Amino acid sequence: MVRVSVRLDDLPLRDDLRGLTPYGAPQAPLPVALNVNENTHPVPEAVADDILDSIARALREVNRYPDREFTALREGFAEYLGHGLSAAQIWAANGSNEVLQHLLQAFAGPGRTAFGFAPTYSMYPLLTRATGATYVSGTRGVDYTLAPDDAAAQIDRAQPDVVFLCAPNNPTGTPLGLDVIEAVYDAAPGIVIVDEAYQEFAPRDSRSALTLLADRPRLVVSRTMSKAFAFAGARVGYLAADPAVIDALRLVRLPYHLSALTQAAASAALRHAPAMLAMVDEIVAQRDRISATLDALGYRPFESWTNFVLFSGVEDPATTWQGLYDRGVLIRDVGIAHSLRVTAGTEEESTAFLDALASLGPGGSGAH
Ligand SMILES: *Cc1c(COP(=O)(O)O)cnc(C)c1O
Repeated sequence: MVRVSVRLDDLPLRDDLRGLTPYGAPQAPLPVALNVNENTHPVPEAVADDILDSIARALREVNRYPDREFTALREGFAEYLGHGLSAAQIWAANGSNEVLQHLLQAFAGPGRTAFGFAPTYSMYPLLTRATGATYVSGTRGVDYTLAPDDAAAQIDRAQPDVVFLCAPNNPTGTPLGLDVIEAVYDAAPGIVIVDEAYQEFAPRDSRSALTLLADRPRLVVSRTMSKAFAFAGARVGYLAADPAVIDALRLVRLPYHLSALTQAAASAALRHAPAMLAMVDEIVAQRDRISATLDALGYRPFESWTNFVLFSGVEDPATTWQGLYDRGVLIRDVGIAHSLRVTAGTEEESTAFLDALASLGPGGSGAH
């Protein structure tokens, strides 16, 4: 039997961690889980078999430490990203959350500040504070958009050591123009991170911030295999930047931070990139269908270039969230007034969400 002897407050915890709450998106075993922007399509059977073969080979040498420089995987990412990138410009870690943590450990830390335009990814302040740095929130314009001059002016005032630009933005779905990134970079004294976790869901002809990397040594573009690649459980994120930035990250990572099994699985998945990404168009179609149906139901969906939709017009988000939960559908209350966020799932899952929401009546507050 576990006896609780002390409370968290009684421990000699770091003063700057007192009162903080951990990341806590509910994990509940509901039939339809559309709350953390996963790709809800499983990895194709043939691809899963090949990934398993690679993991099996790696397992035979698991008595040895893995390649500390994960060279083969970095080459794979460089090839996948294109834009003339080489392995020397690539870094990877256990999820892009760890990639961001490495960046903050190297470029933020005690006495420094990191900056993001709210509302944005909830992990930015948590990761920042965990390194002992201060997090500063900026503001967005109408419909959560950012204009170049406004963004640059806010950065000029705050003079942050690290800037987070989430493009497209989570939890709002909002696209971000390259002109904003250029203006923020010119105004920022430090590192500018463009978090492209959802880039694969953006229109095919939209330009990635990767096209801005040349001659911008303080610019970093981070990506993840968790969303479009249907690989959230494997925990693999990566970034592209100047080789000097990669050298800085070597100072803070733990030796052998990427396990041999992770490297094998990620490299194998990358070899099958087209098959892994095959469901992206289907997800985008469901996203647009969700937006159109939400609109028809009297809600206000915001423009999204991601695999999720933020919608307002919800009378009471907590009531609607619970009503959907009771109908077996898990979505996300991201703490924005009168709004909820739903991930685009398979056609069946998306239909289940839309039907459940419709059954709650106008504004979503109908009796259970
Ligand atoms: C999901 C997400 C990530 C990444 O998550 P990992 O699973 O740690 O790779 C990063 N940034 C944003 C904005 C996200 O929504």
